[in-house]
Amino acid sequence: MDVFISADMEGVSGVTAAADVVRGTDSYEYGQGRMHDDVNAAIAGAFDGGATRVLVNDSHSSMRNLEADRLDDRAALIRGSTKPRSMMQGLEPTHDVACFVGYHAMAGTPEAVLNHTFYGHELIELAVNGTPVGELGWNARLAGALGVPVGLVTGDQATASEADTTVPTARTVTVKTAADRFSARCRPVAETAAAIRDAAETAVIDAADGSLETLAPPPDSVTISAKWVTTNYALAAAGAPGVDRLDGRTTAVTAEDYQTAFDDSVGMLRAASGGANEYFG
Ligand SMILES: [Zn+2]
Repeated sequence: MDVFISADMEGVSGVTAAADVVRGTDSYEYGQGRMHDDVNAAIAGAFDGGATRVLVNDSHSSMRNLEADRLDDRAALIRGSTKPRSMMQGLEPTHDVACFVGYHAMAGTPEAVLNHTFYGHELIELAVNGTPVGELGWNARLAGALGVPVGLVTGDQATASEADTTVPTARTVTVKTAADRFSARCRPVAETAAAIRDAAETAVIDAADGSLETLAPPPDSVTISAKWVTTNYALAAAGAPGVDRLDGRTTAVTAEDYQTAFDDSVGMLRAASGGANEYFG
């Protein structure tokens, strides 16, 4: 059993504030430790459940949060950016199950820790054929297009409910309950590590016995649209190949299949960072 883990940071145990996930702040090392704990719990659970290989893709910000010598030494690590497939780099059709550890709810979700989609400030909404998606839904559809089911999602209670809607057969672990975007009631970390380990084990067993549903990709053409906070980001995003500008704030890519649309959307999102300017009024 070949297991893929996409590891984000905002949804890991004990993390509630932006400073916990931003390198160079006073509590980044705290957040980094919690991320290692949750990812290591998922790796251990995957091997408990019968995994023969585990690949972890660091999916947060610089994508250099996880350190190989602090990870379970049975797992391989993709570290660093930029990566053509971003948070899903390394996922292949040969993987038996994908696990999303430390994920967070989409931008605009009420009572959701550090809710955002891809960018913390710039992107109001990402949508697939008009349906709003967060990183979870955007990435889960790529797994589906590659024929890989999502078996595990960990994060706050809002992330768990987003998972229940998007990938209903995946196991979820709620590691904290949000009060607002920057605060939450956190479960004890020993308890969440045990819960993540158990759920990862079950996810691999579920994958082996075929009880996980693989998310079907959209049947016809796929449009992934992005609605930006301000027009400068839309202008910059529209500079990437294949990106259309639909209106002042909205850009989109359209392709015949989800994999191509996803790849183009990574370019669209990345290009928008070129729209930053020192003037903010
Ligand atoms: Zn994220």
